[in-house]
Amino acid sequence: MPGFELFGDKEKKHVSDVLDTGILMRYNFDGLRKGHWKALEFEKNLSSRLNVKYSHLCSSGTAALSIALACLKIGKGDEVIVPPFTFVATIEAIIAAGAVPVFSDIDKTLCLDPDSIENKITKNTKAVMPVHMCGSMADMEKIKKICDKNNLLLLEDACQAVGASINGNYAGTIGHMGCFSFDFVKTITCGEGGAVVTNSKDLYEKAHAFSDHGHDHIGNDRGKETHPFPGLNFRISELNAAVGVAQLERLDEIISIQRKNKKIFKDELKNFKNIELRKVIDEEGDNGGFVSFFAEDENAAKKIMENFSKNNVDGTFYWYANNWHYYKNWNHFRDKNNLYKTQFCDAFNPDSVQIEKSDEIMKKTISMLIKLSWTEEEMEQRTEALKKSLNI
Ligand SMILES: *Cc1c(COP(=O)(O)O)cnc(C)c1O
Repeated sequence: MPGFELFGDKEKKHVSDVLDTGILMRYNFDGLRKGHWKALEFEKNLSSRLNVKYSHLCSSGTAALSIALACLKIGKGDEVIVPPFTFVATIEAIIAAGAVPVFSDIDKTLCLDPDSIENKITKNTKAVMPVHMCGSMADMEKIKKICDKNNLLLLEDACQAVGASINGNYAGTIGHMGCFSFDFVKTITCGEGGAVVTNSKDLYEKAHAFSDHGHDHIGNDRGKETHPFPGLNFRISELNAAVGVAQLERLDEIISIQRKNKKIFKDELKNFKNIELRKVIDEEGDNGGFVSFFAEDENAAKKIMENFSKNNVDGTFYWYANNWHYYKNWNHFRDKNNLYKTQFCDAFNPDSVQIEKSDEIMKKTISMLIKLSWTEEEMEQRTEALKKSLNI
């Protein structure tokens, strides 16, 4: 999954364009920037690549989530239904917005289970936030239907799944807003960066203004711009955007290498009766960043992980024991150790979190990162080591 593996001439060229003028800011300085608008260029290219009307590039995926929550006016008094398997940032952004996360279950897509949503809905539920984990998507058709039926906002955390799709509809573009991360270990990187995408002009206008202190971005004199509402600073710098422009040019190449490598592993894994592959709703739309599978039970999963380290199969993840991606080890949320006071501290009740189904799935789940740089020889060695590790 990491685009940083392909850092090279393209990235250097776009960064030098910016260094040559010294205009590191994405707004204004029209005369001095010699026609280079890297953030704008990235946004235009992302919108056309994902077939979505509007994109706004910002400083991180976490910033993108905060921007989207603000634009959708999700905050005080609101509950947001989320999966317990995600990166902590999803939850952090909800807490920062003043809303309360309500944990629901995942299914074998490793994403939010549509069947687990409706019994979590209360009079305070404002939004559903599926997270497309490890390059592959939640069952968005079902989730969207539930949101429409119950009049709930749909906000996609697509930080790990840029370029993934179901029936040609891209992750992030199906809900009211979608968020991406371009941090250093994502499919493509800006170094640090993120984006919100939407088909709503109104939400887009809110997004760019909110991420820049409320600036309306009308005209070319920053000082004279008006502030329709207060915002924050979630701007990206032109240097980061420049890296992103180059990486976005590589997205198709990255995804096709990932898919090719992943297929080799999947074809081998299919022969093992003691594992089951993760459910992928649309195989052709898989971003290919990870191959994930279920062992027979928790012990089997642990045994396989031990074998992986014995046989030098690196880049493998047992998320159930991981501190950052699964609810089980999120004692800092459960203990409400927030440095700032928010409604979360009063309203969140850890005792009400019931995610047994997710626990059962996560106990058996193993993922392996798909690298872009593996040579044919390395692929063969890895396939052999993988097979050896699964014989338990
Ligand atoms: C990486 C990630 C984020 C946060 O992105 P940053 O750019 O690192 O802030 C949010 N959600 C998920 C699912 C992620 O993987």
